[in-house]
Amino acid sequence: MTPNVLIVAEVDSGRLSLPTVEAAGVARSLSGPDGKIVGIAGGAGAAGAAIEFGEYGIERAYAIDDPRLDGAPAQAQTAYIAAAASAVGAHLVLLGGSTAGRDLAGRVAVAWKAAAANGVTELAWAGEALRVQRPVFGGRATEARLLRGGRAVVSLRPHAFPAAAVERTTCAVERAPAASVPPALLAPRRTGVEAVPKGTGPALSDAPIVVSGGRGVRTPENFRLIEELAASLGAAVGASRAVTDAGWRPTSLQVGQTGRSVSPQLYIAVGISGAIQHLVGMMSSRVIVAINNDATASIFRVADYGIVGDLFAIVPALTAEIHRVRGI
Ligand SMILES: Cc1cc2nc3c(=O)[nH]c(=O)nc-3n(C[C@H](O)[C@H](O)[C@H](O)COP(=O)(O)OP(=O)(O)OC[C@H]3O[C@@H](n4cnc5c(N)ncnc54)[C@H](O)[C@@H]3O)c2cc1C
Repeated sequence: MTPNVLIVAEVDSGRLSLPTVEAAGVARSLSGPDGKIVGIAGGAGAAGAAIEFGEYGIERAYAIDDPRLDGAPAQAQTAYIAAAASAVGAHLVLLGGSTAGRDLAGRVAVAWKAAAANGVTELAWAGEALRVQRPVFGGRATEARLLRGGRAVVSLRPHAFPAAAVERTTCAVERAPAASVPPALLAPRRTGVEAVPKGTGPALSDAPIVVSGGRGVRTPENFRLIEELAASLGAAVGASRAVTDAGWRPTSLQVGQTGRSVSPQLYIAVGISGAIQHLVGMMSSRVIVAINNDATASIFRVADYGIVGDLFAIVPALTAEIHRVRGI
């Protein structure tokens, strides 16, 4: 079998999002030299974003350049993605590891009558079936599944795969098959968006380094110690729910089960006990460093490096040392 792959793009400010570029890399490694890889993008400026697939060696894409899709619910996109998957003769529809990607994956699988898996960290063909793996139970176990039937819809875990290598080919963009979206599906539109207060550092979900603070910092004023450490590393700032529930910092910074899931190269947890609801949001980080004055804190069970001690002594010293080393 020569597997054909349809990559569903997520468009971010007129460009392919990082999760989409990661999906493009996976599609290229899975498809082999004879497999067909086609991208699909929808929303305002979709045609322009679809051309960008060419930068990652993907020579064909569909676009549905319709601004009404921006903010429309996932079911508005389901039908045309399923139609495109059939038109391409796809064996796999691949989505990036974002909330929208996870939401769409199940819907597309139902519409296209395919097997589905979300948050996948490994995938390989086993004949007509796709063998996938993903962390479950907050990362305490890995589930392996065989998606049979020759049709699979998979969303990837964010940052589990490298971004596609740049190849700079030309991508031919055509209008998507079945590109008309039933108006009824566009009806429950988003009527407003409240801007998340913009921090000065990188966005939490995409940042290669995240420094998170917990209740151990004691007061909202002390949280600046976390922010200063993060700034010294060019890192994003995160927080435990104890911090966001107390109103010390906005909920947009919360990491965990009811907050963001992050998988940075380096996660530094400061004054965070390591409750399971926090761990599920950061356990897949490549290297975890914990700073806590309680040597029995659960966070040390998942940490690669642990510093047992008072954060009010350790964090300023660490920040000062990073400033010194980096000549800040
Ligand atoms: C349904 C549900 C969903 C939830 N979702 C989330 C979620 O998404 N994210 C999340 O984070 N939590 C979530 N929680 C809450 C979670 O159970 C914990 O209550 C929370 O994570 C605790 O936050 P914390 O570690 O900052 O505080 P604590 O558990 O109070 O830990 C504070 C830590 O700071 C340490 N400390 C204190 N002083 C110092 C010092 N001077 N120096 C160094 N260390 C110090 C202490 O030893 C302690 O380990 C959820 C709970 C429920 C029930």
